[in-house]
Amino acid sequence: MDTHVHRQASLRFARSDLLRKTCDLALEFVDGLDARPVGPPVDPAGLLSSVGGVLPVEGEEPERVVQRLSQAVERGLVASAGPRYFGFVIGGSLPAAVAADWLTSVWDQNAFSFVASPAAAAVEETVRSWLIDLFGLAPETSLGFTTGCTMSNFTALAAARHALLRRQNWNVEERGLAGAPALAVVTSEESHVSIFAALQMLGLGRGRAIKVSTDGQGRMNPRELASVLEKLTNPVLVCAQAGNVNTGAFDPIAEIAECVRRHNGWLHVDGAFGMWAAASPHRRALLKGIERADSVAVDSHKWLNVPYDSGLVFVRDAVAHHAAMTLNAPYYVPSPETGRDNNNWVAEASRRARGFTVYAALRSLGRRGLADLIERTCALAKRMSDRLAANAGVQILNDVVLNQVLVSFTPPSPKADPDDWTMEVIRRVQETGTCWVGGTTWHNLRAMRISVSNWSTTETDIDVSAEAILDAHRLG
Ligand SMILES: *Cc1c(COP(=O)(O)O)cnc(C)c1O
Repeated sequence: MDTHVHRQASLRFARSDLLRKTCDLALEFVDGLDARPVGPPVDPAGLLSSVGGVLPVEGEEPERVVQRLSQAVERGLVASAGPRYFGFVIGGSLPAAVAADWLTSVWDQNAFSFVASPAAAAVEETVRSWLIDLFGLAPETSLGFTTGCTMSNFTALAAARHALLRRQNWNVEERGLAGAPALAVVTSEESHVSIFAALQMLGLGRGRAIKVSTDGQGRMNPRELASVLEKLTNPVLVCAQAGNVNTGAFDPIAEIAECVRRHNGWLHVDGAFGMWAAASPHRRALLKGIERADSVAVDSHKWLNVPYDSGLVFVRDAVAHHAAMTLNAPYYVPSPETGRDNNNWVAEASRRARGFTVYAALRSLGRRGLADLIERTCALAKRMSDRLAANAGVQILNDVVLNQVLVSFTPPSPKADPDDWTMEVIRRVQETGTCWVGGTTWHNLRAMRISVSNWSTTETDIDVSAEAILDAHRLG
């Protein structure tokens, strides 16, 4: 037999064995998540040398490749999927979502179009109807599955650019921006960096955005917005936010929507994690007016707890969404009424079938489980904040309205710099490996940022972590 054919046959033969052994490796990791140090410092050079070297000329046995890979990267893995990781806004992965993600890999569907994977199309369409209902968006709203909220913001703002210029009889996809009527873009001082990244990619100029000031919690000032809009004569795109990355605060969406309506503008809401508050009857009021948004960007890989990467973009004007993203390829024949061509709603053509994990997460939680996940993590954030606040020299800098807590620490010596001390406490906590918290700057103060976004975090995890944080501070 020809050696190539022989190798293919043996690879196929060994595949089941390889995947079973890989499953054991995976289980070892997830079962050990609770116990492993969360994110201790690593030596980058050591890590690189255990992973690196030259690409071998001859291929290795797959089983050996996987074994060696998992050993080599071990020291560089962060337990962000575990219960005591509170950095950035990073969720874990619900068991059903991980399992669906495994299947997504073995099914290897191209979620490009209905014909490429009817299954992926049906699942994405189902998630669309579930989520527009859950979020209270208009029934005709279109949905794209993205890699994350940065791409969701990008996609939404591309749809806005289309719609606003179409009203000026300018087809921006066909003619480009040169000579086009100028759009005015209004954000807040606290808009997420990815909004400005979207503007920079869309030719709208991140430096041209007019930034409305915010209050002590980072909420856009709607009165200032109204007066900014009064002075503008060009078509306007307003970017509001549901869930500030530092404080968790929500812009007053209903008031903002009213201003934008008066000026016939486009309202985009970045609700990367905050949008999930809609699932909780107790927090839903934070999103009052969301049904009036023209577009909404959301992450699934944060609070919904699906594996990376997974984001969502909703656009009420599906025609604008489609026009901004469609490929217009000559070989591309649109699917019949019943089919969904996923590529019409995102920048990618071929892509991973991300709908499966979102579907599995939602189905495994149900409405009640999702509401419970949101409520529970918010209550745990409050517990953390209460535990820390009960101690001398610890200040909570935000109103804990959601799952985010900002903390600063007063140095033991009055001569020491408070910012340096807060950074030192963060460094010490990270070093312990008990939990992982990051730093941020809030209103010119260095602060510890704690985000409780993981489905598996318990009260005990919060208590143990609060103790570790307080120990780092008390050590002086
Ligand atoms: C995380 C986040 C983003 C960016 O999302 P990615 O998934 O990292 O691309 C945008 N806006 C807000 C408010 C966020 O919290």
